[in-house]
Amino acid sequence: MAHGRSKSSTSVKDYHHDDVALQAFVAQSAGVPLEAIALAHIDSSWLYPGNENYRGLLKENDLTAEALARTDEVKGWIAQAQNIAAEPSEPVIETGDHCGTPFECGFYDHCSRNEPKPEYPVCWLPRFSSAKIKELAIKGVYNLKDVPDDLLNDKQQRVKDYTLANEVFFDAVGAAADLAAHDLPAYFLDFETIQFAVPIWKGTRPYQQITFQFSLHTLAVSGQLEQTAFLDLSGNNPAEPFAHALIAACGKQGPVYVYNAAFEITRIRELAECYPHLGESLLAINARVVDLLPIARERYYHPSQQGSWSIKKVLPAVVPELRYDALDGVQNGGMAMGAFLEGIHPNTSAERKAQIEQQLLEYCKLDTYAMVRLWQVFASRTDLKL
Ligand code: SF4
Repeated sequence: MAHGRSKSSTSVKDYHHDDVALQAFVAQSAGVPLEAIALAHIDSSWLYPGNENYRGLLKENDLTAEALARTDEVKGWIAQAQNIAAEPSEPVIETGDHCGTPFECGFYDHCSRNEPKPEYPVCWLPRFSSAKIKELAIKGVYNLKDVPDDLLNDKQQRVKDYTLANEVFFDAVGAAADLAAHDLPAYFLDFETIQFAVPIWKGTRPYQQITFQFSLHTLAVSGQLEQTAFLDLSGNNPAEPFAHALIAACGKQGPVYVYNAAFEITRIRELAECYPHLGESLLAINARVVDLLPIARERYYHPSQQGSWSIKKVLPAVVPELRYDALDGVQNGGMAMGAFLEGIHPNTSAERKAQIEQQLLEYCKLDTYAMVRLWQVFASRTDLKL
C-alpha cells in the first residue's frame, strides 16, 4: 500500500522531513505495510485549467528511502520524549526561537509564565534583530529603558525615547513638505484580496492574491470628499470586473494615496499582466501612487503604536475618534477574507450575504477614510472639513 502525505506548503521544508520520518515509523509500527512514502506539496506555478481538473496542482517528492533510513533516529526521539515524560517534574528550558519555529508552540504561556514581562518590551524596537534581543536577554535586559543607546539606529532611538517619555513625535513641517508636491484632486485607495491554496477560478494559481474589493475616497479641488467602492460577492472571479471598476473610479490625474504601496502596486501590476487589454490604464494608476506609510514612519510616532506603523496602530493614534474595533463584524484583513468566503458560499442566505456585504463595505471604507484623515494631519490641511 502506498502512503502519501500532502502539505499546503509550496515546497518541502526541513521540518517536513522529520514529520514524514515520524509518520512512516508510526504507520509501520501499527502494521501498515508501506510501499512508498511521498510528500506532496502545492506547485504555486501551476495554473488551474478549470472543470475541476486539478492534475498538476500537487508535486510529489519521493522520500521513501530517506524516511525508512531514519527508523533508529525516530526511535531515539520517542525514547527521549518518554524519558522526559517520566520525569517527576518538567524540564527546565527557556523559551526562545524554538517556540515559534516552525509553528507557535501551544505551551508558550505556560513556559514563559515566570519570565519578566516588562512594561516596554525590547521587541517594540522596529527592525531590531532577534539575535540582538537574545543577546540582551542573556544580559538580563528585557526593558527598552535598559537598552544601551549605542545599539540603536535613529528610528529605534526615537521609539525608545518617545515611548519612555510617553510623548508623541510629529515632524509636521517635514510631513507637509513630503506632501507638498501633490495637489488635489487626490484619491485614497485600498484593496482587499483572497488567496486559495486550491484555486476555484479557471486561470488562477494557488495562493494568487485575487482582488475582490476596493474602496476609493476622492477629494476634489473644492475640498468635497466622495467615496466609491467595488465588491464582488457573485462567486465568479472578481479580478477583471475589479480592474474595470478601478480604472473607471481612479480618473486620469492626481495622486493615488495608499498605505504600504508595495501591496497595491503589485496587485495592479498582476492585473495588468492578467488582462493585457487593460494594462496601460492599470499601469497609469500605478504611476500615480503615493505611499503614506514611509511618511508616517519618518514623521510620526505615538507610544501606543508599540513600534509598529501598521495603519491599525497609526490611525487610532493620529485620529482617536476613528477605531477599527468599533466596526461591526469585519475589523481586519483576515476577517475580511473570512467574510468574503462566507459571502460567496452557495449555502449563505441572501440575508446573511447582505449583512456581510455591508460589513465589508464599511470596513474597507474606514481604511480609505483613515488615509484621508492621516493625509489631512500630515499635510496640515485642517482648513478642510473631512
Ligand atoms: S513553549 Fe514549547 S517550545 Fe517553547 S520551551 Fe515551552 S514547550 Fe518548549
